[in-house]
Amino acid sequence: MGNTQSAKQDSTPELGADRGSDQGSFTPGQATVFNTIEEIGTLTRAMRKVGRPVALVPTMGALHEGHLSLVKAAQRMPRAVVVVSIFVNPLQFAEGEDLDAYPRTLEADVEKLHAASVDAVFAPNAREMYPNGPRTTVQPGAIGAILEGAFRPTHFAGVLTVVNKLFQITHCDHAYFGEKDYQQLMVIQQMVNDLNMGVTVHGVPIVRQQDGLALSSRNQYLSEADRELALTLSAALTAGAFVAEGGAEKVLSTARQIIESVPEIELDYLELRGADLGEPPEMGDARLLVAARVGSTRLIDNVNLPLGIGFKNIEGEGEG
Ligand code: AMP
Repeated sequence: MGNTQSAKQDSTPELGADRGSDQGSFTPGQATVFNTIEEIGTLTRAMRKVGRPVALVPTMGALHEGHLSLVKAAQRMPRAVVVVSIFVNPLQFAEGEDLDAYPRTLEADVEKLHAASVDAVFAPNAREMYPNGPRTTVQPGAIGAILEGAFRPTHFAGVLTVVNKLFQITHCDHAYFGEKDYQQLMVIQQMVNDLNMGVTVHGVPIVRQQDGLALSSRNQYLSEADRELALTLSAALTAGAFVAEGGAEKVLSTARQIIESVPEIELDYLELRGADLGEPPEMGDARLLVAARVGSTRLIDNVNLPLGIGFKNIEGEGEG
């Protein structure tokens, strides 16, 4: 009953009345879980009808503070109804990757989203998302073949296909992605531009632990010793960024030296690129990106740096 009243206050009296859901009515801020495309679509269409933008945060669950910073960014959008999707997308995992081992903690995730006052959670199963298996897909083009794409050739097609589906399913106006997966953010932005999707993509800075390790659901795989080794990656990026004023070669050799000093780390790539992942500029915004395996865990990280300029020479930085 209370739920229906809240829905009414929210000017969406039709919700809960005829959705035919066995999950009860929708109450804003209560992290109501929707498992079907039809149900979440009914909610978000109704929200848009009453002038409320839909803000989507796509995730694979095993939520941590990094995901919650995307939620906070979405909640800053005025009047938005915030939807978090939780779906471990089989299409973006290749044979032999960690699809089966990937942590699935739906109950705990929903609790966190409830505590964060998220409006709705979309948690479909694979049959709901791919009733005909993978058939029509979205291909990323050349940007999907570099960096991560060189090691995971089918990964970004899997990501784009599911993100496109989530955009259609939730009718979202805004979508939030972490810079932690910087190439993913660029590939999604490109899809939105190239396919004229009416979605605004927002990038959110990386959340790290105090010692520098970028938060990741995959950190759960790390033993204590491996976690210690994994710190080398963020340390190398920080060291590279520190010498940004010295130019590309200096940045790369500094970061590489730190990684190579730890023989247990198997480096997939360490690359310096422009902010759009093209050639790095002589002077200006660049990204230093790394992927490496620590034990059996594959980790990625990246950092922004002012190439040829240096942080201390940027106005307002390093003063006082
Ligand atoms: P995942 O559940 O790993 O697919 O991640 C879902 C979203 O959370 C993606 O947009 C990620 O880039 C973002 N994300 C994951 N870890 C972090 C982090 N440490 N800081 C910021 N965003 C993150």
